[in-house]
Amino acid sequence: MPVPAGPPAPFDIADVFPELVPYARATTLLYPRAGSPVRDESSLGGPLLWPAEESWPTCTAPDHYNPARGCAVVGPAPVSMVPVLQLIARDVPALVFPAGTDVLQVLWCPLIHSEHDQHSPVPVLRWRSVADLADRPLLDEAPRPYEFDDEYVPLPCVIHPTETVEYPNQDMHAELSERVGRWSEEMEESCGISYYDAFTTQQSKIGGYPGWAQPPNWPHCACGSRMDHLLTISASESCGRWLPVEERTRPGGGWETDSEPQHVGHEMIMGDCGGIYVFVCRTCPTWPTTHRYDC
Ligand SMILES: [Zn+2]
Ligand SMILES: [Zn+2]
Repeated sequence: MPVPAGPPAPFDIADVFPELVPYARATTLLYPRAGSPVRDESSLGGPLLWPAEESWPTCTAPDHYNPARGCAVVGPAPVSMVPVLQLIARDVPALVFPAGTDVLQVLWCPLIHSEHDQHSPVPVLRWRSVADLADRPLLDEAPRPYEFDDEYVPLPCVIHPTETVEYPNQDMHAELSERVGRWSEEMEESCGISYYDAFTTQQSKIGGYPGWAQPPNWPHCACGSRMDHLLTISASESCGRWLPVEERTRPGGGWETDSEPQHVGHEMIMGDCGGIYVFVCRTCPTWPTTHRYDC
């Protein structure tokens, strides 16, 4: 069942802040919702199209630790990664794939790693081709990690990719950011709608802006380019205008926002309602990736 986005914005941001127009970015909101995805579907936390003869990825980081067990350092036995996301090109037309591929898989070790001082799981990506997988035996069930922090183990969700346009929550120059913030406060007082509810998103998505909870921290590739935001896996799902109409708990015009972020589906808390942002450099032929985490 498709989950539509909320009602349209009540005013055109281009009329209020013409200088924001160049900041508009297309994004695909994923809307993960609890379900029983199968391996040849796009999903969050569902089974992956994985060749049976290919070993399942494990993590042997010497210092990864588990906050769920008093931050005990885990090891040295390899910890199986968990499936986090599978995107098949037919479901996400706006996502650009490397030539010859049409499946993107994201996995991570469900423990905390201090790599890049991010203190989060480290996403691992696989790009594959449906055609290449068609004649190969596939893995029936992924091995379970023997140790995990369930804040980072998604429950299986089907996804409902929905394309929209968003504006930055923080990625603009300071003077504009200050004016937008002031106007947002005025709007919230007069009609209960903030700029951030109406024009920015803080949920799992492809493209658009990272839904930074802290000041922006864009990574740079070894080649010198600033990397692009590829996707976000977020603990907060569907707040403000973006909460689907049928999931609103209060009556009215559909603009009431729940003060608490929704945990609909994957149930990951990710620290304190955190987000993991995956970045890619498409200038380099190998499309290197890295991540940031905040909460
Ligand atoms: Zn690990
Ligand atoms: Zn690069």
